[in-house]
Amino acid sequence: MTIQVQKTATAAGQALDAPMFDPAAYRLTTEQADIITRARELGQRVLAGRAAGYDRDAIFPTENYKDLHRAGLLGISVPKAQGGLGAGYQTYALAAAEIGRYCGATALTWNMHVCSTLWSGPLADDLDMDDEMRAAHERRRAIHYKRIIDDGAIYSQPFSEGGAAAAGGVAFGTEAKPVKGGWLINGKKIFASLAGHADYYGVLCTEVSEGEKASRRNTLYLAVPAKTEGVTVVGDWDPLGMRGTVSRTLLFKDVFVEEDAALMPRGVYFQAAMRWPHMFMTLSPTYMGLAQAAYDFTLKYLRGEVPGMPPVKRRMYPTKQIAVAQMQIKLEQIKAIWFQAVTEARANPSKEQVLRAYAAQYSVMEGANELAALAIRTCGGQSMLKTLPLERIYRDSRCGSLMLPWTAELCLDRIGREALYEPGETDD
Ligand SMILES: Cc1cc2nc3c(=O)[nH]c(=O)nc-3n(C[C@H](O)[C@H](O)[C@H](O)COP(=O)(O)OP(=O)(O)OC[C@H]3O[C@@H](n4cnc5c(N)ncnc54)[C@H](O)[C@@H]3O)c2cc1C
Repeated sequence: MTIQVQKTATAAGQALDAPMFDPAAYRLTTEQADIITRARELGQRVLAGRAAGYDRDAIFPTENYKDLHRAGLLGISVPKAQGGLGAGYQTYALAAAEIGRYCGATALTWNMHVCSTLWSGPLADDLDMDDEMRAAHERRRAIHYKRIIDDGAIYSQPFSEGGAAAAGGVAFGTEAKPVKGGWLINGKKIFASLAGHADYYGVLCTEVSEGEKASRRNTLYLAVPAKTEGVTVVGDWDPLGMRGTVSRTLLFKDVFVEEDAALMPRGVYFQAAMRWPHMFMTLSPTYMGLAQAAYDFTLKYLRGEVPGMPPVKRRMYPTKQIAVAQMQIKLEQIKAIWFQAVTEARANPSKEQVLRAYAAQYSVMEGANELAALAIRTCGGQSMLKTLPLERIYRDSRCGSLMLPWTAELCLDRIGREALYEPGETDD
């Protein structure tokens, strides 16, 4: 399959890297392998060469999004009948890992965009809705999908508010008041990746009628057009890593959205959060890719094969060989548990599958940064210069454990509690 992207002069002649998950070894179909190759090809040949610039200037990778659209990847999880590639959860995750291998910030923001189609698409298809609700949902989601396929519209996913809502503890503080023909939204979202660059903000908010108490059951997922009156982007963005995500603050002041803005019908987001927990694991593919990138770089560096560097070999030293062995073992462990977890993502997973998903998320988010740290120690001083990607991989990978609702800490909390207690059990 050849993709329609402009290749950079430096990367055009390079041989394509081997896939992270070999289709034969991991029993993928030809169709899955083709989609994942498309992502790898775009990542290696186009995105990798631009990543340092976006990181240095902390600017949004607008050109990358044009190329993702041209390659059909903005619609990766849009159903084929509506012009997309029809990728399910596993195929998306494997493709996203390949993008993350070459540009973490693009993979992380692409995840926010793809989730608007994955959650409203294959995931919603697994959930309970009556016929009328499902018909209305299908009609509405087709509107969103058409914008993505035809116009390259970009969706983001502002979720975090700085408090317990994004951790799943309480209702979102951003409120949607029902009014004639739609809702009026008021509130604030922090760390809103793609702020100022998305065409639609897929806001998680609480529907609250006069005199009613806010409840998580009444969460709505609404696509707010970025140019709507009352939407503002404030604050700067100068973080340690993932600098190209441009995750600034979004404010909503009496923002009117129509009923067709709903990416999920009433009650369905809450149902998804209860019954489809792997929906919160979709940030991990980016970091799976970064883990692979740290390992790939180390091999190339020790073999004296990093482009632009003198061809000095360092592979003959036993300590470096041992470090590579440790990295390979760690990478295989992460890949194995992560592949299993993304393969068994479904509605109503067993307790064992949910615990494994937390463990996979923890392993990837912490493991990517451990691998990057080991890569720097092993390759040595020159490897951490800003002219090379390793120090960026190190900084980007440090951010994975902070992503709510499945931060590394919350994964530990949940594994410990849910392994020891059955639902409803107490020690009273
Ligand atoms: C690069 C980057 C991009 C991001 N992009 C997005 C995005 O596009 N959309 C989005 O919605 N968010 C995004 N986030 C935000 C991310 O998901 C978190 O919400 C954010 O990092 C939390 O920051 P905080 O300081 O409020 O966290 P914390 O203070 O750690 O957590 C916030 C609250 O969660 C609860 N909490 C945290 N830890 C625990 C615990 N162990 N036990 C019980 N409760 C706990 C507490 O109530 C706490 O006050 C991004 C973050 C980064 C770093």
